[in-house]
Amino acid sequence: MNRVLVLASRNAGKLRELHEILAPYGWALRAIGDYDTTDVEESAPTFVENALLKARHASAAAGLPAIADDSGLEVDALRGAPGVHSARYAGIHGDDAANNTKLLAALRGVPDAQRSARFVCAMVYLRHPDDPTPLIALGRWEGRILDASRGADGFGYDPLFFVPDCGCSAAELGAAQKNARSHRGQALRALCAALDDTTTP
Ligand code: IMP
Repeated sequence: MNRVLVLASRNAGKLRELHEILAPYGWALRAIGDYDTTDVEESAPTFVENALLKARHASAAAGLPAIADDSGLEVDALRGAPGVHSARYAGIHGDDAANNTKLLAALRGVPDAQRSARFVCAMVYLRHPDDPTPLIALGRWEGRILDASRGADGFGYDPLFFVPDCGCSAAELGAAQKNARSHRGQALRALCAALDDTTTP
């Protein structure tokens, strides 16, 4: 099926993963940065609503169906923080180093058994900006927050996210291994399965 889609992200790490996961589907992918450089205010209290805001904006700007995700890290000892504020936890949007430093400080002295956390992702697809029936898929990836960074791959909180079944951090996993397990991989594969059941946009 020959679809053209716009991906509603400017985050280089995310875009790379989205391209890798979507490659087998053979769709023509565009990036929102080719159409519009203004940022959408991610002001909603839920991942789903923020993903819809981003998808609506991208679909309108590109005149194409859009896929958007909103994702973040929930830390149980911090009652779900940084949550929907993950990208700007330390104040500046996308400052991964500052976010990681703040997270380590917030969890200083917290024992391993109480450092449980998960990445969550809401992935949405809109056929057009006013699509009243968006496709929505969710993904969750359980792990634990380390007390120091490990690994150099990935992005965001990956160096602090310990993946129990691999015995390493998310930043020590290769791209394929991360995508096979991650919140984003789960959500995107579920979305694509739903998309395959719908008519061509
Ligand atoms: P968004 O662009 O508003 O969805 O922000 C998501 C933020 O959550 C990113 O900037 C990262 O801080 C964090 N995040 C989401 N997914 C991942 C991941 O796969 N690895 C590491 N950090 C992530």
